[in-house]
Amino acid sequence: MAQQDDVFKKIVSHAKEYGFVFPSSEIYDGLSAVYDYGQNGVELKNNIKRYWWDAMTLLHENIVGIDSAIFMHPTIWKASGHVDAFNDPLIDNRDSKKRYRADVLIEDQMAKYDDKIAKEVAKAAKRFGDAFDEAQFRTTNARVLDLQARRDALHERYSKAMNANDLAELRQIILDEEIVCPISGTKNWTEVRQFNLMFKTEMGSTADGSMTVYLRPETAQGIFVNYLNVQKTGRMRIPFGIAQIGKAFRNEIVARQFIFRMREFEQMEMQFFVRPGEELKWFQQWKEWRLKWHKALGMGDDKYRYHDHEKLAHYANAATDIEFLMPFGFKEVEGIHSRTNFDLSQHQKFSGKKIEYFDPELNQSYTPYVIETSIGVDRMFLSVLCSAFDEEQLPNGETRTVLHLPAPLAPVKCAVLPLVRKDGLPEKAREIVDELKFDFATHYEEKDAIGKRYRRQDAIGTPFCITVDHQTLEDNTVTLRERDSMEQTRVAVDDLHKLIHDRVSLASLLRKLR
Ligand code: ATP
Repeated sequence: MAQQDDVFKKIVSHAKEYGFVFPSSEIYDGLSAVYDYGQNGVELKNNIKRYWWDAMTLLHENIVGIDSAIFMHPTIWKASGHVDAFNDPLIDNRDSKKRYRADVLIEDQMAKYDDKIAKEVAKAAKRFGDAFDEAQFRTTNARVLDLQARRDALHERYSKAMNANDLAELRQIILDEEIVCPISGTKNWTEVRQFNLMFKTEMGSTADGSMTVYLRPETAQGIFVNYLNVQKTGRMRIPFGIAQIGKAFRNEIVARQFIFRMREFEQMEMQFFVRPGEELKWFQQWKEWRLKWHKALGMGDDKYRYHDHEKLAHYANAATDIEFLMPFGFKEVEGIHSRTNFDLSQHQKFSGKKIEYFDPELNQSYTPYVIETSIGVDRMFLSVLCSAFDEEQLPNGETRTVLHLPAPLAPVKCAVLPLVRKDGLPEKAREIVDELKFDFATHYEEKDAIGKRYRRQDAIGTPFCITVDHQTLEDNTVTLRERDSMEQTRVAVDDLHKLIHDRVSLASLLRKLR
């Protein structure tokens, strides 16, 4: 774990050193849990968003996009339940003065039981070798059975307390499990309190009687309140989806792990409207499609898993997370929820406007059911960065730091490098840049020795370096160096466009989703 912590620290400092992510307001000592994206970060982020947007809107004829405002009528948040129920249960440790989410402390405790069980299994597997029967071991080993029973009991108690919103019971669980504060190491806990995560502000001048408005904590409500507009103007027929990318704000109390949990972040959400009764079929379908989208990036199939929700939100009848293996464990990157007709019904009730769909095939009207897919851009960014970061030992004993980014997501697709700064090589290199730059983010670099320039491009994940040398002037060929293998091949300048395009185009990625 300590080693993984080290890796994570390195990733965070690499992100800053190479212009991916900066702490917000850094010259004023920063603003907690708020970050800015730098020159390379913004490109990577835009590419992630484009990949998602195109996968939704180009590959599905029945999905369209919108861009709704961040400010919305405050009653929307009453209808959605966010004013009354968008709360986290908080607990403070009196000695360290640190604040925690009670649910997270308990979930971490459950993960500890899981870890202990996994360790026992791994130990036994090593001891018994090929003869090891894991299923039998899990059902007969006394220590594993005891741990599993304690874990299950905790899980049941926790789910009950969360569903009943029983704050006293959550505190009692923390005491009974003897959970200590990771900072002070003590069990000196306060009561558990509820804390609303929405940011409030005022709209209009106070003289006229201003109105309290909220910064949206999710983009989804902007889709629900536009359901009728889009359905009517787009003549959409069920099933159909509406996609949106935009900022969301949550006053997260426990902000940690870099851009994993931020107070201002970005979401990519899609609400898919279906016939009542068909929602679970569509839920399964979207679970599969979304995982495929992640896996197409080639970051390793074993780095993903589903995590079905134990506590279903009051409006949901099925929910799962897609988790990604970050250096700090498997963590939620995306949520897929079957939200029933809760949101549309609530807006119908609070607005007094009829929100229904007339289904010509069934010859009947109903309030559509909804499957939601909701992914955080920043968490996706973090998963890409973590999986790409590598300190590679080279045969000559050197270490190179390289980002093995999926090529279509890389901020810079190719760098054109004249071997020396004379003899007409810079001019020739510029000529090549002027051809490629219309289709690919292309860098020109002439400073420092060629090896050093390669390393700089490796560090930002540039898939291709094109080196212009004296031979280029004679036969119009260049050296094409590939980032991951570091292999160099001699290719004709005229072939560059196709060679690069085949590897870096978003279309190549989207085709994998067919
Ligand atoms: P968590 O349990 O981690 O607080 P959540 O279940 O509340 O997350 P959702 O409301 O389902 O998250 O939001 C959908 C997605 O938005 C999440 O999967 C995550 O990728 C992203 N997200 C949510 N909160 C944050 C945050 N504070 N910072 C960055 N991304 C976030």
